Amino acid sequence: MATFEMVIEGSFRFGRWLLAVAPGASEVLNAAYEGWARSFTGAPPWRNAMVATSELGWPLSGAGRAAVDVAVRRATLWALPEDDLYGAVFRGSQAAGHPSWARASLCLLQDWGVEDWPIWKARCAGPLAAYKAYAKTVITGRCLAARAQALDGHPYVQLRPCVSQDLAKGYALGLPTSCLRAQRSVSRLRAGLLTLTHRNRRRSWARLQYCIFCEATLAPEEGLSHALNVCGAWTEGRAAFGQAPGVGAGAEPGASMGAEPGSPGYQQLAEWAGALDSSATEFWGGRLLSLRPVLPPSSAHAGRSAAALSYELLHMPESGLLVPEPELPQALRRLSAGGGGGSGAAWAPSSAGWGGRRSWLNG
Ligand SMILES: [Zn+2]
Repeated sequence: MATFEMVIEGSFRFGRWLLAVAPGASEVLNAAYEGWARSFTGAPPWRNAMVATSELGWPLSGAGRAAVDVAVRRATLWALPEDDLYGAVFRGSQAAGHPSWARASLCLLQDWGVEDWPIWKARCAGPLAAYKAYAKTVITGRCLAARAQALDGHPYVQLRPCVSQDLAKGYALGLPTSCLRAQRSVSRLRAGLLTLTHRNRRRSWARLQYCIFCEATLAPEEGLSHALNVCGAWTEGRAAFGQAPGVGAGAEPGASMGAEPGSPGYQQLAEWAGALDSSATEFWGGRLLSLRPVLPPSSAHAGRSAAALSYELLHMPESGLLVPEPELPQALRRLSAGGGGGSGAAWAPSSAGWGGRRSWLNG
């Protein structure tokens, strides 16, 4: 995230005070930051963006960040000497009342409930840095209110009522690199981004499903608590968590998903989450197995090659048919040879059980 702040945010911030007053800029800015947040956490486009931004520790929306820039820019211009040409043009535009950045940016600040520099200066008489802190506090408050509204009733709020500071805390505590990397998996688990149950090796809304690791019968909402608390495939992770200093013998890992860096067992839980995330991703990466059942039977697709259809399906995230880009050519060759897939195709694993993605790709 430090790289994002330095490279992306650092370059995006340039000129944002100007862009912010353009019609529709707020929507564009919000969508950009929400899209980045979803990308960082691996969330699909239809998931609540507030969960993703919260996990990244972003209290400000894209438009909120720009509003802070506008407030600071206006304050900087107000603070210029009377004989400064730039400052004189700004003050003149403000007084003239014709359409200008000076007028539009004042309206933007008023929309956010932020006092302009002259009003704030008369009330508080502080330096520019204090005004920036004031503007940021007001705008953050508005963004957090919007977050609370967007997450009202969302189960995620039970685990993180406030914006998560886990990434910053983990870094400040000097956690091992493996643990810092695994924090993304903790976020993904907490945000409910991992599908841990299946039905016929497909994602399903069915009430009766099966653990992707041990085939235990479960309801979909029980997947995470089952994996952490009882799943037979994760006894080692559970043991490592239970033996961590400060963790009681009877502590349930599933009850610790809201734990913060530095709390007992957090490091063990994070590294376990990383392994869980990796295994779940590998499981769903092999969804090519069920290509035949999800192939659309419609005659609307007549005349198009099986390879072309397969390629499209592979790129539909909601189908679960996710195959890494470098493996696509090989997968498509096998599809063509297998006549569309299904049990018994040349590339299909044996019916004895799930052999993993590598097994079918390599023969
Ligand atoms: Zn299980």
